[in-house]
Amino acid sequence: MMGMTTPKLPRLIPTGTCWCGCGAETGVGAFFARGHDKVAEAALLAAEYGSSVPQMLHKHGYGPGRSVTHDAVENGAWIRCDHRGCPYVGAPASVRSHARKYHGPNTTE
Ligand SMILES: [Zn+2]
Ligand SMILES: [Zn+2]
Repeated sequence: MMGMTTPKLPRLIPTGTCWCGCGAETGVGAFFARGHDKVAEAALLAAEYGSSVPQMLHKHGYGPGRSVTHDAVENGAWIRCDHRGCPYVGAPASVRSHARKYHGPNTTE
């Protein structure tokens, strides 16, 4: 692996209580009650960045001059759509669903 920018992240263990902070109990192995991961994500953006994605990007050194999607691919969390000339990048499941929708059912290569 080259160009390693992988952030060294700690190993997190679900605690049985929702990590959005609502206090709900969660299922075994789950960090969140259903849908609360999105709540937590939006709340973090609101609490730390005034609900502004540009502010969040700027804070972490990203923007038009330094591509956050490039780093997401570089660190292995995201992949590129491998269809020729396609600029789409995303999580593997997202790219698969994109490819089905835009490149037809039999274009995994
Ligand atoms: Zn919650
Ligand atoms: Zn594509």
